Amino acid sequence: MKGTTKLLNPGPVTLTDRVRKAFDAEDVCHREQEFADLVKRVMGKLARVYPESDSAYVPVLLTGSGTAAVEAMLGSLTPRDGKTLVVSNGVYGERAAAILEAQGKAFTMLKSASWLDGIDLAGAEAALAAGGYTHVFTVHHETTTGRLNEVGKLGALCKKHGVPMLLDAVSSFAGEDLRFADWNLEACAATANKCLHGVPGVAFALVKKDVFSSRKSAATSVYLDLFKYEKEQRTGFSPFTQATHVMVALDEALSELADMGGVPARVERYRGYSQRVLSGLAKLGVETLIPRADYSSTLTSYRLPEGVTYERLHDDLKRDGFVIYAGQGDFRGSIFRIAVMGDLAPSDIDRLLGCIGQSFDRARRV
Ligand SMILES: *Cc1c(COP(=O)(O)O)cnc(C)c1O
Repeated sequence: MKGTTKLLNPGPVTLTDRVRKAFDAEDVCHREQEFADLVKRVMGKLARVYPESDSAYVPVLLTGSGTAAVEAMLGSLTPRDGKTLVVSNGVYGERAAAILEAQGKAFTMLKSASWLDGIDLAGAEAALAAGGYTHVFTVHHETTTGRLNEVGKLGALCKKHGVPMLLDAVSSFAGEDLRFADWNLEACAATANKCLHGVPGVAFALVKKDVFSSRKSAATSVYLDLFKYEKEQRTGFSPFTQATHVMVALDEALSELADMGGVPARVERYRGYSQRVLSGLAKLGVETLIPRADYSSTLTSYRLPEGVTYERLHDDLKRDGFVIYAGQGDFRGSIFRIAVMGDLAPSDIDRLLGCIGQSFDRARRV
């Protein structure tokens, strides 16, 4: 039966039956009116995921993974003669710096002392006070550790110094609270296949509308130019072939999100599941990577106990029908991560905890 493997990685997610059925849709040409109507519908729903964004921001959809949306956002919006302050404490902050580097755009990397730390707010304050920045970039939920960054505090600094913020919200959009005006957000980037519970293949940036009427594109790429997409998507069409079936599934996933109570209900559900994982693993003596209070609602990270290798744990759990996630970069081989997005029930979490306990017991017996 499909959907019996539970994906506990931070996207792609285990699809709900409703989204899976929608994906198995009639074939449609991306140049036909019915597809344009679908795109317009998806744009309307995306703008309303956070009611606050509805009037002042426009979703721009493109075919690609989350990184494509981040790359398009940075490329199209950061001026060629500008300078971005990249506030980083993990893999995705570093990826943004690599993107700006590849685009030949100027930036300053403000790294925390360690990926275990929060973003460097004092450093950001000093940099912004010194001046010279046209944008600030940060990651909302740093999936590397599961930390929900203090974007509210950084946003207040952006506001104070009049510098717009660009946000990687790829693993938080629809799974955490987002503030647009308070955070001085010019744009955020996200994807269909994380907290929105869609299929991978479509990503988007939600961009302040006045950007498109007041500036020219700064894109260094033909494909990843948000200005081109925005202009054509006013009629629902796109400059390049969109992932048509993925768009149908996203439309359904957005309806499902609204039917289930929208973002507040989804955040509460994720939070409940993550708490259940946290307490269950605490009982098994597992240590968290960062303090409990610092985690996002969607993902938690744990140090592998003495005598347990990631490979063993992963392979045992995979046989039991669960896919967990390894550490990246510095944390490879020393941690494991559990995301709670997608089609999951409380009983899945309880079974997972039982299976993890059994895997630990087996590891300790040898
Ligand atoms: C998943 C993720 C991305 C994008 O990854 P893709 O593999 O390109 O979809 C970007 N930023 C964050 C914070 C993520 O979690």
